[in-house]
Amino acid sequence: MKTQHLRQDKTCLNCGHEVPDRYCGHCGQENVDTKESFGHLVSHFFQDITHYDSKLLLTLKYLFFYPGRVTKEYISGRRQTFVNPIRLYVLRLSSSSCSRR
Ligand SMILES: [Zn+2]
Repeated sequence: MKTQHLRQDKTCLNCGHEVPDRYCGHCGQENVDTKESFGHLVSHFFQDITHYDSKLLLTLKYLFFYPGRVTKEYISGRRQTFVNPIRLYVLRLSSSSCSRR
């Protein structure tokens, strides 16, 4: 898998702590540029289908009970906690197409 470029800023976008290396020692978020290529999204899409973790449940919980908060947090750079919105949308489309059969 192609790796993303490291950010020049060494401040974690998720928690604000200093990130001396690739990953934040406090929250675990990767300190990389947040723009993703289409190929990167496709590879993550297949990973998301086969690998579920607590991010999906937490994202769904916030979407149901605190609409808008996920968007605000994601745009401000706090992305470690939530599923990528495009991947969530594609997962939703694939689950609805499977349920119609
Ligand atoms: Zn952090």
